[in-house]
Amino acid sequence: MPQLFYCLVRTWDQTSIMRSLILGLLPLIAATPALAEEIGECRFSRETLTFAGTPLEQASCLMRKIEVGAVRKPQPLPPVLVHLMTDAPPPSAAQKAAAIAAFPEPYRSYAMQYADAPVSKTEGELPLLYFVIHDTSTPFYRHDPFPRHLNEDWKVNDFTPYMDGSIAKAPVAHIFLNRVGQIWAGHEFQEAWRATKLESRVVGSPARGRMVHIETVQPRRFLPGYDDRGHTYGPKPGFTKQQYRMLAALYVYVSARAGHWLIPAQHNTVDSTIPDAHDDPQNFDLKSFGKEVEKLVKAGR
Ligand SMILES: [Zn+2]
Repeated sequence: MPQLFYCLVRTWDQTSIMRSLILGLLPLIAATPALAEEIGECRFSRETLTFAGTPLEQASCLMRKIEVGAVRKPQPLPPVLVHLMTDAPPPSAAQKAAAIAAFPEPYRSYAMQYADAPVSKTEGELPLLYFVIHDTSTPFYRHDPFPRHLNEDWKVNDFTPYMDGSIAKAPVAHIFLNRVGQIWAGHEFQEAWRATKLESRVVGSPARGRMVHIETVQPRRFLPGYDDRGHTYGPKPGFTKQQYRMLAALYVYVSARAGHWLIPAQHNTVDSTIPDAHDDPQNFDLKSFGKEVEKLVKAGR
């Protein structure tokens, strides 16, 4: 629709005959939902910078299971997430404290330092709303097998490639979480940062600040018979218990700072239907995440 509008405006400048025609059309254009275009299967609105539906409906769409080849399948939300998306009170100070206590050092001290700081918001003053889970798809093993002792592997757990500019000039996400549960903050949660195509290419800067991004370390290799980055797979299980524990702690911590429960999301479901959308996170176990969130929610009651 914006393209059509552009064409019409250009024609309008060119001929007076067209001008009268266009003027006749303008009320029609205004009446059509040109700006209400929705992006992706979970229907993100450029105007409200929100996916469609209630928080529960949004989380259900955004937390669908992502299988190899970015095949998305519905799955039930854990009861704790249903509760947080519907009738739970806002995060409490005790829940925030429980989350901080779960963090390992040195991130715990860092998180304490910013515990009462505001979180990002958009340039239009909309508050932070989405907690987006990624997998790093790094290291990439091409046709080599995954390391035998994947979770303890030094190269797999090394933060250096995310820090040294070899992947991108600036850290690609707010948080990097390795397989032993260590956390490195690439950007503080105050910073409006983008890590999806929806934010960087489709909506652009107005969307920045609406989402925080968590990169969870998981290696990849080519699917048998392929040698392009569109056909890769991650190990099963995809993530470690420590990663689910820390994802839950980060979720509770940043929600508490925001003053409301963020809507959990995944990179692929945020970018669904956008060309070349990434297919991460692979092998994400929503039940395991839910169990860890539940422990912290109960601990802080
Ligand atoms: Zn991603």
